[in-house]
Amino acid sequence: MKVLVINAGSSSLKYQLVNTEDESVLAKGNAERIGISDSCLKHTPAGKDRVELKAEFKDHTDAIKMVMEALLHPEYGVIKDMSEIGAVGHRVVHGGEKFSESVLINDEVMEAIRDNIELAPLHNPANIMGIEACRKIMPGVPNTAVFDTAFHQTMPKKAFLYAVPYEAYEEYGVRRYGFHGTSHKYVALRAAGILNKPIESLKIITCHLGNGSSITAVKNGKSVDTSMGFTPLEGVPMGTRSGNIDPAIISYMMEKKNLTAEQVNETLNKRSGVLGLSGVSSDFRDLASAAKQGIERAKIALDVFVYQVEKFIGAYAVAMGGVDCIVFTAGIGENTPEIRKGACANLGFMGIRIDKEKNNNIPGNTKEGIISTDDSRAAVMVIPTNEELMIVRETMDLLREV
Ligand code: AMP
Repeated sequence: MKVLVINAGSSSLKYQLVNTEDESVLAKGNAERIGISDSCLKHTPAGKDRVELKAEFKDHTDAIKMVMEALLHPEYGVIKDMSEIGAVGHRVVHGGEKFSESVLINDEVMEAIRDNIELAPLHNPANIMGIEACRKIMPGVPNTAVFDTAFHQTMPKKAFLYAVPYEAYEEYGVRRYGFHGTSHKYVALRAAGILNKPIESLKIITCHLGNGSSITAVKNGKSVDTSMGFTPLEGVPMGTRSGNIDPAIISYMMEKKNLTAEQVNETLNKRSGVLGLSGVSSDFRDLASAAKQGIERAKIALDVFVYQVEKFIGAYAVAMGGVDCIVFTAGIGENTPEIRKGACANLGFMGIRIDKEKNNNIPGNTKEGIISTDDSRAAVMVIPTNEELMIVRETMDLLREV
């Protein structure tokens, strides 16, 4: 069977078609600039060159129609008939407290996703448009929703409550939800597989370090704490997001600079993090080369990032009463040995050590492997994340249950 994975944003729609027999990717691509001029579809069939298809997508339905055309095309298509697609798995950002696992989509689920728009005003409306487009164009094909927040619904109250008046939680749902759940779950399961141990017996710290970064404590297979919170702004500093700050800074900045709440929000989300600190870039490759050239603020931005990552690792080791495995994933976690080295530099007192050679060249010529020394008390690993594959697996599990 083939499963189509859809990750719909407000003006873009990423897709992958996966063959569930061997979990191979048959084609992937991105419909860009939906609802804006000059929209186009970038489509890459497995083993072939990318094609760029120009067309006007006035909405997500137009974009999905074009995705179908590309998948069925005699030259660069990968299927002969739409009926080969057995299900569509959708990434949905916010499931609130309603969804602690993935679900088959029906009208009631759509209503609940709509109810969560207030919690994710930038993401859930786009996810809904992607789902509605698929339901229209592929009637009868089951759709599933895989939530970024669902994996973290196992957190205990002591981890998800903020110490603000309790009514804020009861009336407005103000609590830690956590994000990147699909990625944290995928790498934690993979880590258990590499260690050849049941995940139920392990304490794992997963570090998803990319443009957005979050760190999760996974105890016995369940998320027990995570660094992102009510929104994806909390936690470690990110490309452009501040991560944790003293909340009093917000009203102070508003008064000093005469800013509105929206302007402060914009500053903290778009002009902070390593970009704000360095004044150079939000991209860690640019920061690394700027630091090499001696640009002091780029060095400091990297230091602040690494320091916060190591603090979360330390905190979560204590929260779980130990750690068996630390995983690095996503753009930075997978590709930047210096950041991994820095984040683990002070773990020696816990008996955790990185092997310099393995960290620089992951053993086995793959991008996945153990980078700690043989005598390290916890395995440190690099595991490329694969949220799309996790969505396919969750979709298949749901179809089996029907
Ligand atoms: P992501 O959001 O997971 O795509 O990660 C984006 C971040 O990862 C950016 O800061 C990039 O600089 C960094 N990154 C991605 N690829 C590489 C690479 N090959 N080497 C170093 N950093 C990378």
